[in-house]
Amino acid sequence: MEDIVIVGGGPAGLTAAIYVQRAGKHAVVLEGAACGGQILTTPKVVNYPAIKQISGADFALELYEQTIALGAEVRFVKAVSIEDKGPKHKVVHTTDGDIECMAIILATGSSNRKLGVGRENELLGKGVSYCATCDGMFFRGKDVAVVGGGNTAIEDAMFLSNYCRKVYLIHRRNELRGDAGAAAELEKKTNVEFVLEANVTKLVGENALEKIEITKLDGSKHFIDVSGLFIAVGQVPGNGAFANIINLDNFGYIAAGEDCKTNVEGIFVAGDARTKAVRQLTTAAGDGATAALAAVNYVR
Ligand SMILES: Cc1cc2nc3c(=O)[nH]c(=O)nc-3n(C[C@H](O)[C@H](O)[C@H](O)COP(=O)(O)OP(=O)(O)OC[C@H]3O[C@@H](n4cnc5c(N)ncnc54)[C@H](O)[C@@H]3O)c2cc1C
Repeated sequence: MEDIVIVGGGPAGLTAAIYVQRAGKHAVVLEGAACGGQILTTPKVVNYPAIKQISGADFALELYEQTIALGAEVRFVKAVSIEDKGPKHKVVHTTDGDIECMAIILATGSSNRKLGVGRENELLGKGVSYCATCDGMFFRGKDVAVVGGGNTAIEDAMFLSNYCRKVYLIHRRNELRGDAGAAAELEKKTNVEFVLEANVTKLVGENALEKIEITKLDGSKHFIDVSGLFIAVGQVPGNGAFANIINLDNFGYIAAGEDCKTNVEGIFVAGDARTKAVRQLTTAAGDGATAALAAVNYVR
């Protein structure tokens, strides 16, 4: 019987493991891909307190090494389902057998929905971004585009309009889906241009993004010169495997507040997988600490 099994070896899961170990309990982290999670894909992190600048890969490596040094165990397996057998008795079914434990922390994160346009992956970090909060400042004084029509796209365009010379907001419908008040505020910005009933159909640039091809619904095409494209077409949480016992919100995130407690006693959630307003490294780490200490208290 393990003390605490943590599903997901991203920033939230590894931070939780650090706190579990430091509190004198044993953490087993299950990671289905590579430790570090989403941050692995970004070349530059500049908003984590006390680290002026670091690559996502180095951030992940430092965090992984810190976790291992404290005695946590990382197993590279995927959790396929979980079972609640009662107080201090849970089971995690994995691609490599079952693990019995006293408590579980779900830190499965989420992933950005892709736009599905050619060279999207190739130009990631070279003009293409899924995170205006993270990367916006690299485009200070430049022309950029945001694609999407929901609240994130509106917020991203508003945020970027404070740094960038010009922001194009591109949406495939004739009106935005997000909050009407926020959209009206955005319309007042003189450096924001709405490009509606349009799709981004091509990304152009040798080593970095230089322009995007826009195809209007009537089939006409034109190019817009931009050095940044912020893709805000939604996120995809991967919590379906736990939905048999864990309550999810309408968007598929695990329903839990700041205490990181789920509807099942002894099962906690941390990081991007949880219902929350801000999905960042700092908030993932904060959740990791909160969930770990709550899980340790439960186990005790
Ligand atoms: C391109 C990009 C750039 C970013 N830049 C910044 C930045 O500069 N600053 C910042 O603060 N934030 C940034 N973010 C956001 C930040 O990366 C996330 O908020 C953070 O990684 C969330 O951590 P997490 O541990 O909750 O989830 P994730 O990072 O998503 O990690 C979840 C982990 O769980 C694993 N997993 C999922 N399901 C299972 C399963 N069933 N079994 C086993 N393992 C599983 C996944 O493989 C993954 O490793 C960026 C995000 C992206 C995509």
